[in-house]
Amino acid sequence: MTEKKPLTRSPQDAPPPPIGELATLPVFFKLRGRRAVLVGGSDGAAWKGELLAAAGAQVDVFCDAPGQKMQSLRGKLNLVERPWEGHDLTGAALIVGDVEDEMQAQMLRDAAKAAGVPVNLVDRPDFCDFQFGTIVERSPLIIGISTDGAAPVLGQALRARLEALLPQGMRAWAQAARDWRREVRAKNLDASERRHFWREFAQAAFARPALLPSEFDREAAFDSARKANTTGTGCAILVGAGPGDPELLTLKAVQALQSADVVLYDDLVSPLVVEMARREAVRIAVGKRGYKPSCTQEDISALIVAHAKSGQRVVRLKGGDPMIFGRANEEIAVLRAAGIPVEVVPGVTSAAAAAAALQTSLTERDVARRLQFITAHGRDGHLPKDLDWRALADARATSVIYMGVKTFRELAERLMREGLPASTPAAMVERASWPDQSIVRATVGTLADEMARRTIKGPCVILMGAAIGIFQASEAEKV
Ligand code: SAH
Repeated sequence: MTEKKPLTRSPQDAPPPPIGELATLPVFFKLRGRRAVLVGGSDGAAWKGELLAAAGAQVDVFCDAPGQKMQSLRGKLNLVERPWEGHDLTGAALIVGDVEDEMQAQMLRDAAKAAGVPVNLVDRPDFCDFQFGTIVERSPLIIGISTDGAAPVLGQALRARLEALLPQGMRAWAQAARDWRREVRAKNLDASERRHFWREFAQAAFARPALLPSEFDREAAFDSARKANTTGTGCAILVGAGPGDPELLTLKAVQALQSADVVLYDDLVSPLVVEMARREAVRIAVGKRGYKPSCTQEDISALIVAHAKSGQRVVRLKGGDPMIFGRANEEIAVLRAAGIPVEVVPGVTSAAAAAAALQTSLTERDVARRLQFITAHGRDGHLPKDLDWRALADARATSVIYMGVKTFRELAERLMREGLPASTPAAMVERASWPDQSIVRATVGTLADEMARRTIKGPCVILMGAAIGIFQASEAEKV
């Protein structure tokens, strides 16, 4: 493959993923100063009334007999103690009702329709134009969660998690963002500077949520935005994508993906991980594997440099950990030479995922005090000639072999000649951490035959050494 690719796009560019079908559209409705109509005097209705009033609505409540909670809201809500009539609905922004029977529900719904006002009836999803989400409130930062009625308890559980994730201080940061908008406008920043400013802001909010945002934070973000523009360079982040399961990404990796302008990813990176990038990010597949036309290492480095030089934030996603058998040094050297700031985010390497799959520690007192990672795939695709055979023939070390399927038979034979007992435990883990992960347990003497009997489709690591045989297969592994 000698044909040169244009540097800032590739034929394999993937457009942002199309948005899937939505059960409902999440929108945030302004109610300040507008009239909302509430029908019913129950506690459920009262709670909805409180919510509408909290959003600034003037709430007219129509009910014959307001319950205790509704009574207590007198003042906050305008209680009209009679049944609603058609003209009450005219001009309202929203109608919410908690009514007793189907007939009343139907009447209120029809009248709302006639008045052209969207309606929500408590516990009657079929009569609703809109629903209330489960709320996480750090106003002006507000998160609404909906499962479209499918799993309210799941929504609640998610809310609990988000509550834990979002410190109360986020409220102050969100408010500061609102207050600072005018100053940001006055600075006449261009689009990329503005984006940089807000990115710095978001980073500071997550780094120091418990501290009140200060002018110092604002000025530091301005400085950084201006500097980024004068140097004209973006940056490159080498990010460990882990072995496959997106839940094995680090929080830092997720943050990097969420702030990327461009994402370059390898074949081995799970599509679910690539999907976690910012929606607008350009995604470029730069697989080097297999026999199809693919990017060379030089092409990849040139692509990162070109994008970063045009001021973009480039995330280079590498399977597992970027610093293990990932040719990271070549990319780092090119980036440094081009004066582009580089950052590295470590990831879970496949050896670690394989150990987890086997539920076996790679180290064990007295049995395995040394752990070694090797690649069994040389530049020419054959078994490298310069492996340390003696070290590998030591059954009291654990060896993890990357890219070793093709050459394992030759490797095992050589190691047995060097004195590694054929009975040394060995295992192969294919697609570690993926839903279709599979495991073969054998010995150094038998693993090559065991592997030959299977069709291997995904990436595999092979593990050898006394430590690997400490446990038999778990029940989960046998199924
Ligand atoms: N940087 C990566 C390794 C890249 S080399 C890491 O830290 O894991 C590519 C090799 O990694 C593959 O040939 C295979 O040996 C191994 N590998 C990658 N993902 C794997 C997975 N999910 N399961 C088993 N092996 C994997």
